[in-house]
Amino acid sequence: MAPAGPLPSESYLRLVERHGARIADPAARLRFVRSAREAYVPGLPGWAYVVRSDPPAIRVRRLPLGGAGALAVLLLLGLVRATATRDAAVPPAASIRPVNQALPRVWLVEKTGRQELYSNGLRIEERHAAKTSPRRYRAFARRSFELSEPRTRPAGIVFHSSESPLAPFEAVHNARLKHQGSELLEYVVRNAAYHFLIDRFGRVFRVVAEGDSANHAGNSVWADAEWIYLNLNHSFLAVSFEAQTGTGSGSCPANPAQVQAARVLVEMLRGRYGIPPENCVTHAQVSVNAASHAIGYHTDWGRDFPFREIGLPDGYRDALPSITAFGFGYDAAFLTAIGGQVWPGLLRSEEQVLRDAAAGGLTPAAYRKRLQRWYRELAARARMDNTQGEDHEQGM
Ligand SMILES: [Zn+2]
Repeated sequence: MAPAGPLPSESYLRLVERHGARIADPAARLRFVRSAREAYVPGLPGWAYVVRSDPPAIRVRRLPLGGAGALAVLLLLGLVRATATRDAAVPPAASIRPVNQALPRVWLVEKTGRQELYSNGLRIEERHAAKTSPRRYRAFARRSFELSEPRTRPAGIVFHSSESPLAPFEAVHNARLKHQGSELLEYVVRNAAYHFLIDRFGRVFRVVAEGDSANHAGNSVWADAEWIYLNLNHSFLAVSFEAQTGTGSGSCPANPAQVQAARVLVEMLRGRYGIPPENCVTHAQVSVNAASHAIGYHTDWGRDFPFREIGLPDGYRDALPSITAFGFGYDAAFLTAIGGQVWPGLLRSEEQVLRDAAAGGLTPAAYRKRLQRWYRELAARARMDNTQGEDHEQGM
C-alpha cells in the first residue's frame, strides 16, 4: 500500500461519498464518481470544489485570480515537488479480497467411453473433445510484478454465452432445438472455443480437453489477491452456455437445467483444481481492448449471470483489476451493452482509483496513465515469455 501523502484526500473522498450517497440511480452515481475522478486535484481543500446536482457532477470552483487562486497554485506547486521525488514504481493497492470458502469435494464415480459421472450428479458427455496445446502459463505477482514459475493448473473459470440462434424452448420445437445444439457443438469443437458447453437441455459437453488451452479470452485481465493473469486462454477454463445474454430481458437467460448443470460442473472444477470463488468470472468482466485501454470488448454475461444459483458470491460486486491495477476505462456504449445496470464493482473500482491516486499523490488522470504504462510493460513481458503459445480470440 502506498503511504498517504500530505493531501486532504480523506476529506475529498468524504465529500464525494456524502454527495454520491444521495444519488439513487446507479448510472447517475457512477457518472458522478467519474466526474469526481476527473476533477480531483491533489492539495486542493474541500471548499475549492463545487457540486452540481443536475446532472450530478463535481468540479473545481472557478477562482478569481486573487488570494484564493494564488493559494491553490502554491499548494499545487508544493505537491508537484513533493510527489516528483516519490518512487514511481509503487504497485497499486490490492483491491480484491480473498474469499475463504471451503472447496467442494466431488469425485469421479464412473467413466465410460461416452460419459463421466460424478458424485454430485454431474455428467460430462465425452464424445467430441478437441486437442489443442497443453496448458502452460505464468502469472504476475501482484506486489512485485515478478513472473511465476510455469504452471499447468487452471487458476479460474470464465463464463461465456454462445449468442447463437435459439428456437423457443417448447416441445413443438424439439427438432430445431436439437439441431441448433448439435450445430453449435460442432462449431465450438472445430474452433476449440471453450472447455465445456452446456446445451439447452442442461447437458455438459467436453469441447476441449481439460489440460489444454482454449481460444476463449484472448485479450483479457483478471487478478486475485496475489496474482495477476493476462490473456486467459491458458490460465482459465471456459464454460459456455447455449444462450443469448444481451437481450435485456432482465431475467436470467440460462434455463434452470443449464443453471443446475453449471452448478455441479463449477463445484467439480473448483474442487479438482482448488479454484477460489473470486476467480470464477464472466467474459464481460475480464475482456479488454488492449489498444484502446477499454474494458468490455466482449460483453457476454455483462448482466444477469446467476452467480448465487451456481454457488458463487455475486461477482458483479468485485472491483475490476483491469481498472484498479491497469487504468482501463469504458464508455457509454459499454454501459448500454451491460443493460444500463451498473455493477457495484464498477463503482467500487472508480472509488478505488480515486483513493489510490490520492494515496500516491497523483491526479487520477496521471495515476491512470501510470497504470496503463504498467499494463503495456506487463503485456510486452507476457508476449516475450514463450511459456504459452499464440493467443487466439474467439469471436463470441
Ligand atoms: Zn465469451
